[in-house]
Amino acid sequence: MKLLVTGGAGFIGSAVVRLAVSRGHEVVNLDALTYAANLANVAQVTNSPLYRFEHADLRDRPALDRIFAAHRPDAVMHLAAESHVDRSIDGPAEFVRTNVVGTCTLLEEARRYWREMDDEARAGFRFLHVSTDEVFGSLGPEGQFHEETPYRPNSPYSASKAGSDHLARAWHHTYGLPVLVTHCSNNYGPCQFPEKLIPLMVLSALQGRPLPVYGRGENVRDWLYVEDHVDALLAVLERGRVGETYAIGGGCERRNLDVVRAVCRTLDELCPDPALGSRERLIRFVEDRPGHDLRYAIDAGKIARELGWRPRESFESGLRRTVQWYLENAAWCERVLSGAYRMERLGAGAGV
Ligand code: NAD
Repeated sequence: MKLLVTGGAGFIGSAVVRLAVSRGHEVVNLDALTYAANLANVAQVTNSPLYRFEHADLRDRPALDRIFAAHRPDAVMHLAAESHVDRSIDGPAEFVRTNVVGTCTLLEEARRYWREMDDEARAGFRFLHVSTDEVFGSLGPEGQFHEETPYRPNSPYSASKAGSDHLARAWHHTYGLPVLVTHCSNNYGPCQFPEKLIPLMVLSALQGRPLPVYGRGENVRDWLYVEDHVDALLAVLERGRVGETYAIGGGCERRNLDVVRAVCRTLDELCPDPALGSRERLIRFVEDRPGHDLRYAIDAGKIARELGWRPRESFESGLRRTVQWYLENAAWCERVLSGAYRMERLGAGAGV
């Protein structure tokens, strides 16, 4: 298949690009190269004849028109987004521009392209919209999100993703575009920008810096290793039912505090610092994120039953692989941190 992957220089998108090329798919990576992107994430496929890169913004309709005409994809995997909740609290408008307006522009271009395909190609075309479990809001101590859970987005990020989900759904319902939507829980793994919890803790702990934990660290997330997520996305693209949504999760619920402790223990084992002793000593509780959702958990029964997908990594094995990757890729980390981002506190609600 020839895949047009948006956001393929970001964290999950680059894992999609790497795995899809390794499975023999042709991939066109469309990315605007925002602060979150890094072409080093796709270095291992850059010279593959199966890979092409297009530097373009989702909102640039003439650029999309040119890219669809030049590459004639069989499917779109839409991952490009503004993705960090804390940044959305400081500056929500950019999230609406990229996640809502950008998705609308891409859907419109995909619809135009799809309508002009011949019958056989049109029947096989797919638009996979990659979303998050955060659109469902917050759970109490019990229960899990599933495909029928009502939308209750609480942050500007999740509200903008919910908006884009509704557009994708409507483009299927109104125009018949063959859309599939996925809702995934928190991902972690190699190449994640260090504003997100796990890489921020790994890199801060390595530098002996304080490890800021929001509130009392009681918030629970369901963690999924990024390669398991990508495997699920390809399963949905290849075998999912058009018009359906699929919830994807790791079945690995952890409190943030336990995640940070696990990072510390893994680092202490793989890279001991005798002067510091246990890195758990670096943990500091800081003011909570405004509107912080308490708990997310996913019932991934539908994708298991219908598509036979299950995660391969446990939280412990995935975390070990992740920490090992950051230890072995110091140059990647230095390059990311040499930009504007300095691992500072984002999203305390002070922005306008
Ligand atoms: P990321 O921030 O690491 O990467 C986003 C990519 O999109 C970057 O390469 C960026 O340059 C690109 N991009 C941003 N705006 C663009 C625009 N206007 N035009 C073209 N490209 C643009 O994000 P991620 O963590 O890899 O998430 C990818 C997708 O998966 C997002 O849609 C996100 O909502 C969804 N998701 C993420 C998680 C998670 O835990 N990270 C969980 C579930 C779903």
